[in-house]
Amino acid sequence: MTTDTPTPHDWTDAGFSTRAIHAGQDPDAATGAVVPPIYQVSTYKQDGVGGLRGGYEYSRSANPTRTALEQALASAEGGARGFAFASGLAAEDTVLRAVLRPGDHMVVPDDAYGGSYRLFARVFGPWGVEHTPVDLSDLDAISAAIEPGRTKVVWVETPTNPLLGISDIAAIAAIARAAGAVLVVDNTFATPYLQQPLSLGADVVVHSTTKYIGGHSDVVGGALVVAEGAQLPVGLDGPTGTTGLADAVAFHQNASGAVAGPFDAWLTLRGLKTLAVRMERHSSNAAAIARFLVGHSAVTQVIYPGLEEHAGHEVAARQMSGFGGMISFRTGSRAKALDVCARTRVFTLAESLGGVESLIEHPGQMTHASVAGSMLEVPDDLVRLSVGIEDLADLVADLGQALA
Ligand SMILES: *Cc1c(COP(=O)(O)O)cnc(C)c1O
Repeated sequence: MTTDTPTPHDWTDAGFSTRAIHAGQDPDAATGAVVPPIYQVSTYKQDGVGGLRGGYEYSRSANPTRTALEQALASAEGGARGFAFASGLAAEDTVLRAVLRPGDHMVVPDDAYGGSYRLFARVFGPWGVEHTPVDLSDLDAISAAIEPGRTKVVWVETPTNPLLGISDIAAIAAIARAAGAVLVVDNTFATPYLQQPLSLGADVVVHSTTKYIGGHSDVVGGALVVAEGAQLPVGLDGPTGTTGLADAVAFHQNASGAVAGPFDAWLTLRGLKTLAVRMERHSSNAAAIARFLVGHSAVTQVIYPGLEEHAGHEVAARQMSGFGGMISFRTGSRAKALDVCARTRVFTLAESLGGVESLIEHPGQMTHASVAGSMLEVPDDLVRLSVGIEDLADLVADLGQALA
């Protein structure tokens, strides 16, 4: 029995959740399965030499479960093409290899995710790529750090981790464009539900889908989404004879091969479907907890972009549709911060973020221990919360007893 593959439905004009649930995920042509099956397969029968069915040849190059995720991610970010990887750092490594050559220079956040900074400094550094760390909330500092003709990448993270710094994506896009550099935005903290960097002028978005997109602390993954028409830096010839950024990323994804496996792609796609409702709840819970912490006598400072006193509040309010689920706060001493982390029962003491369950951590001794003594060092009385989607009253009561 054969059926012709139906033409995929065009979801371009649908709303965010409709696209997250349906784009790239038409019912399986062979069986009608309502969600894309896990194609746990490495190779595909050819109908005569070179007679590929649907273009599938070998699962490093393409796999139907991964294709579904890649199309759904591209749709969620409003981009031309999506690419799914084994981790966020694998995605970052791939886009940097596609865009940079020895002797090039990049401008990076002075409070970048620690793993990203390690990649810039200790992997790309020895291959001859220099970087300048800059406070990305300072547009003049970014312009000053650009080395004309040499700066090929401007790397943005907003909000940042763990200090939740905010930078103006549209303004930085103008600076990067004038310099002929590719603007990469790490959209892991905001997610495409709350922030759409490609619509603000970014060339490519990177994700650790391990965090909010996966959303259930059960899979490690990464993604790139390339904007329609995005180009390699001026003067760089792509490996496939075009200057398109997506073509170069596609080549490198296959050539280096750090792809997402079918089961990981399936889990991530399952997470993406509920991203909108989860982010609504993460954001409303976090806003209420931020207000609770502001009023608590054991807390000396609350860092949350939704608070008017946050330095980036205005920019965040303009470029995000909500302020997300991450909060950091200071307690006045390292001992008190460690004590709070030890006493919560609903908030689990663990690294990572973005899952349905609330997490608490001490960045100084956990996620950011490796950057102690560097410019990325964080205050030692800082506590970071990844606010989950449990009942607000239970979360507030838990923090209340831990701070008492
Ligand atoms: C976790 C994280 C990464 C790295 O992603 P992995 O999936 O752990 O490789 C990159 N950027 C940000 C902002 C992150 O939180």
